[in-house]
Amino acid sequence: MNVTSETAALLERLGVAKADFSGGDLIVRSPVTGEQIGALTSISPAEAGKAIERADKAFKAWRNVPAPKRGELVRLLGEELRAAKTDLGRLVSIEVGKIPSEGLGEVQEMIDICDFAVGLSRQLYGLTIATERPGHRMMETWHPLGVVGVISAFNFPVAVWSWNAALAFVCGNAVVWKPSEKTPLTALACDAIFKRAAARFGADAPENLSQVLIGDRAVGEVLVDHPKVPLVSATGSTRMGRDVGPRLAKRFARAILELGGNNAGIVCPTANLDMALRAIAFGAMGTAGQRCTTMRRLFVHDSVYDALVPRLKKAYESVSVGSPLETSALVGPLIDKAAFDGMQKALKEAAGHGGKVTGGTRVDNGHDGAFYVKPALVEMPGQVGPVLEETFAPILYVMKYSDFDAVLDAHNAVGAGLSSSIFTLDLQEAERFLSVEGSDCGIANVNIGTSGAEIGGAFGGEKETGGGRESGSDAWRAYMRRATNTVNYSKALPLAQGVSFDIE
Ligand code: NAD
Repeated sequence: MNVTSETAALLERLGVAKADFSGGDLIVRSPVTGEQIGALTSISPAEAGKAIERADKAFKAWRNVPAPKRGELVRLLGEELRAAKTDLGRLVSIEVGKIPSEGLGEVQEMIDICDFAVGLSRQLYGLTIATERPGHRMMETWHPLGVVGVISAFNFPVAVWSWNAALAFVCGNAVVWKPSEKTPLTALACDAIFKRAAARFGADAPENLSQVLIGDRAVGEVLVDHPKVPLVSATGSTRMGRDVGPRLAKRFARAILELGGNNAGIVCPTANLDMALRAIAFGAMGTAGQRCTTMRRLFVHDSVYDALVPRLKKAYESVSVGSPLETSALVGPLIDKAAFDGMQKALKEAAGHGGKVTGGTRVDNGHDGAFYVKPALVEMPGQVGPVLEETFAPILYVMKYSDFDAVLDAHNAVGAGLSSSIFTLDLQEAERFLSVEGSDCGIANVNIGTSGAEIGGAFGGEKETGGGRESGSDAWRAYMRRATNTVNYSKALPLAQGVSFDIE
């Protein structure tokens, strides 16, 4: 079976009608072979506006369903995802090119956040606060916001929606999702899976509680500008965030921005080099460098440079690159030609700055329209040129350091600091890296790589947009609004701060 017919069979099994992915204007290609796997119909901006109005109506019913009952819907969603895991994971591999364990791993993250959100639905706590007024009680109540807009990137085509949606639903919101125009098929599959959960839940799940808007950035802009969308959670490039952030601020809407990552690791003199080697290889080459948490910069102490870097280069030279559908390759394709061109441009610039490049060449897999590359390791004389930017491809820039304070400064000297790690057995170095004068990223790890976050912690938060705020921990608060309530149960009239009025 070829990729096109396998995709059609998977979508049918997942519950997506053929008409929803054929005959339209939005052409979707699998990066595995470059073949067309879908032609979807984009929604017009006017239709997108109407969908938001429908979601607002759904929200007004959903907010009255008690939170633990809302959790039951998310529990059912988790069950449906478990049942669909194999097919949805495979579809992720076809649409994005992830190797099988990563495709399935992404669906597992969806299941995990559903489990988390079910428990959360009974824990949307407010505080009871000591009041200065006698005979009064003061407390916080948390209310849902309304329609939550989700805009997602191609490289986590399903998990990002679920991180937002599972929390948003238990909090009492409706969700309108604009997936990446490069990965709308997996979004249609998630929509079908959600609809099955909602049907099992019954009539208390209002129609249009969850909607998918197919289209490009123009459709995303409708979500960003619509007055009935009080929160937009947008995941993608820093370029996108710079556009979306001010537009939301202009109408006082909330933003959760999960943007680029120019992530680094530091290997110190006492590091366990075997451990570091594995973590770096996985963090830098996994998902063909197309993770927001991919390790892109590596600082190695000069006392261990010669013990580590030649071994790392060997790993780069020997890593298997190929089709994630037919081989056991560890590195799949880049998403498209633009990603390949961007990688080649960055490598050329790095070489111009004195970088010594290992790998980075195209790997022929017999399909002109698919772009496979050997991951690149570039030994750089310093942190210059493309090292300062995120190139969304497998390039690891390796630099020597000798002074710990200087390497902390270098580590923090880029934009898009999202995830970070240090490899050391020295307690002082580890603690300083995690301290206020250490890593400035939303994720800071010791003796594990930069990628592979768990949903229990708040994810992401590159330094420019201010710290982790999606999925676990108390991230739910962003999907709700706080009201402070005061109840007067005294019989006396209140006399606040010595102010009195003559009232007959
Ligand atoms: P992208 O910015 O090109 O697109 C992301 C999404 O934003 C798409 O759905 C796109 O249609 C939409 N969009 C783009 N411009 C918009 C605008 N002006 N208004 C509204 N919507 C707009 O990103 P991509 O190439 O799909 O994904 C790769 C990028 O995403 C990388 O930079 C990566 O680091 C980042 N990313 C970040 C995280 C995180 O959690 N921090 C997770 C995954 C990916």
